[in-house]
Parts: sequence; C-alpha cells; structure tokens
Amino acid sequence: MAHDIAIIGGGLSGLALAAELEAAGADYVLIEARDRLGGRIRTVRVGSAAFDLGPSWFWPGQPRLAALADRFAIPVFEQFATGELSFEDEQGGIQRGVGFSSMEGSLRLTGGMAALIEGLSNSIPSGRIHLDSAVRTISKTGDITLTSGATLAARRIVLAVPPRVAAGIAFDPVLPGPVIRALTAIPTWMGGQAKLVAVYDRPFWRDRGLSGDAMSRRGPSVEIHDASPASGEIGGLFGFLGVQPHIRNGHTEAVKAAAIDQFARLFGDEARRPLRVFLQDWAFEPHTSSALDHTSPDGHPHYGLPHALRDIWDGRLSFCVTETAPEFGGYLEGALVSAEHHASRMMTEVV
Ligand SMILES: Cc1cc2nc3c(=O)[nH]c(=O)nc-3n(C[C@H](O)[C@H](O)[C@H](O)COP(=O)(O)OP(=O)(O)OC[C@H]3O[C@@H](n4cnc5c(N)ncnc54)[C@H](O)[C@@H]3O)c2cc1C
Repeated sequence: MAHDIAIIGGGLSGLALAAELEAAGADYVLIEARDRLGGRIRTVRVGSAAFDLGPSWFWPGQPRLAALADRFAIPVFEQFATGELSFEDEQGGIQRGVGFSSMEGSLRLTGGMAALIEGLSNSIPSGRIHLDSAVRTISKTGDITLTSGATLAARRIVLAVPPRVAAGIAFDPVLPGPVIRALTAIPTWMGGQAKLVAVYDRPFWRDRGLSGDAMSRRGPSVEIHDASPASGEIGGLFGFLGVQPHIRNGHTEAVKAAAIDQFARLFGDEARRPLRVFLQDWAFEPHTSSALDHTSPDGHPHYGLPHALRDIWDGRLSFCVTETAPEFGGYLEGALVSAEHHASRMMTEVV
C-alpha cells in the first residue's frame, strides 16, 4: 500500500515533521537508516546522568526549541561557566583567567538533547517508524528501495537527511546536474567534528575555582567545556577535537589517552581517573557526513533552500533538514523551522 508521504530520516527535522503530520491526521511513514532515532542528536547515559555526544546547547532567542522543551516538561539549565577559564599554549603551558567563557548563557536540557527525541517519538505511533532502513534508491514513480532490498511507495517524498548524504542516494531518473551540485555544495553543519566526553565521579575542577572552560593551541581538544548534569552529582568534561579527521581516524584509543592527558594538564591529576570516556567522530558517520565534510567550512555557512532544490519532480520530492532551513540553518532550531515550514506547506498543497 502506498503512503501519501514518506519522510526519509529520523533526526530532529524528520521527527518534528512526523509529529506535525501525525497531529494533522496525515498518512505518512518515517524511514530511518540507523537503529536509533535522533541523527546528530546522540546522548549517552552513565547512571542517571546524560551526556551529549552531538548537540548540547540551544540559545535564548530560539523559541521553537524552548517551546518543545516546555511541551515535554524537560528542565532547562544554563551551561556551567562559574570560575576561571584556562588557556593552553602550543607547549602545554597553562594560563588562567584568559579570554571569556564562549558558551556562558547557553542552555542545556536535563536528560540531554535525546529528551526531545524521546518526547517527539512518543507522540508518533511506532507503526509509522521504520528503523534500520537505509534508503538506497528513490524513483519518480514514488518507489523507494532500502539497502535491505525491501521496497515501499509514497506519493510525496521528503528528504530529512543532510544534503550531501542525500546526494549519495540513487535517483531514478537521475537528478539534474544543478540539483546534485546544489546538494553537494551544502556542508553538513558540524559534520567534520568529533566530540570527546570524559565522565568523573564529581566535577572536581570546580573545587579549584575552574569553570571547566578551556581553549587550547596544543590539543587534542581545542575547545573544552563542563558537561556535568545540572545537579552536579557526577562530573563531565567535553572537548571538540582539533585533530584533522584523516589523522584521528582509526586511532580512537590513542586520541582518548591524549585527551585525558590534556584534561590532567588543564584541570589536575584527578582527570586521569575518568569513569568513562566517549569519543563520537561524526566525520565517519555515513548517514551524517560525506568525505567533503572532512574539511570544515570557514565560519557558519549561509544555509537555506537553494533555487535548484525547489519543485523537483513536480514538487513531489522535497528537502526538510536544518541545512535547508530559511532561518537558524545548521542549528537544532533550524531543524524545527524546516519541519514547521514543511508541515504547513504539505498540509495545504495539492500535488
Ligand atoms: C558535534 C556536534 C555538535 C553540535 N552542537 C550543536 C549545538 O550545541 N546546538 C545546535 O543547535 N546544533 C548543534 N549541532 C547541529 C545539530 O546537531 C543539527 O542542527 C541537528 O541535529 C540536525 O537535525 P536534522 O534532523 O536536520 O539532521 P540529522 O540529525 O543529520 O538527521 C538526518 C537523519 O537522516 C538519517 N539518514 C541519513 N541517510 C539516510 C538514508 N539513506 N535512509 C534513511 N535515513 C537516512 C540519519 O541517520 C539521521 O537520523 C551539532 C552537531 C554536531 C555534529
């Protein structure tokens, strides 16, 4: 049986769209490649504490994210930024109190960003969601083939996947050159990044008057922040790695060991005794990034839906992901903007 709408991708964009279509009584199905929902949102737990390996912040002035947290009664708290900052030079020399806390005032969620995914997926009947279902081909007739060989059909198809990942799907007929060029020109926001989280039995750096914020010219992490839960009952530090993807690839354990050494230089010897260390390398996640994303853009790209991506296959193939959002592109808020715009368009248009 053909569905009216197939949403491909169960990240925040795809799920938020599915939740809106569900509320409007539409006939849709959501197809997700991974064995979990959330896409770039990935939260791990140690005991009852949650640690984000993807996005961890939203900011004042992002109303949709705040409203969603409110709707699911998810407590919001400010990024911990009390105390001195640390700066590490190329030789590993440490200075305190230099610079400013770049993430002060940023907002986090108790339970991590996965709490949003949980809230959204609870509002969607499980029969509408297919996990472990990577889409391999899409035809103009509406037939969708998964890598498993299974097939399904839909009248309208929404690609809620990063544009460069979408360009890797086989389309029949082949999409015009300008469309493929437009897709591959759009960097996956943060797609080349890797995030390391070390969990401790308590946020010990706070005892020394340190905020957990650090900038480093030595690495392997270049930017470090406190990742502890609001309660502070357990500690967490996270770093964005500055080591290039092709250098860190295949060296997970060595990178983790170097990162713990660095945390010890910056915050003291207690850092050598983590309960757990997690390393999430987004650059090598084929459902998030392409090889083009191994080179990060200079600054925040100008996102939005390029002209070439409008009205494909008489409007029956469309894009709904943070990178195509008309505002807040790249951010979580952008994913919600995309879903909102898409839902209102889909519920009013006749294709
Ligand atoms: C390390 C890191 C830190 C970040 N920090 C922040 C932050 O603090 N604040 C912020 O606002 N934003 C941040 N971001 C960006 C944020 O994660 C994204 O804006 C948001 O998660 C994008 O959601 P999305 O649904 O649009 O895309 P995605 O989350 O990429 O979802 C796409 C989905 O499509 C699926 N998919 C892909 N290919 C296929 C296929 N062939 N078939 C079926 N399914 C497929 C994927 O598995 C995935 O679930 C960060 C990103 C990263 C990587």
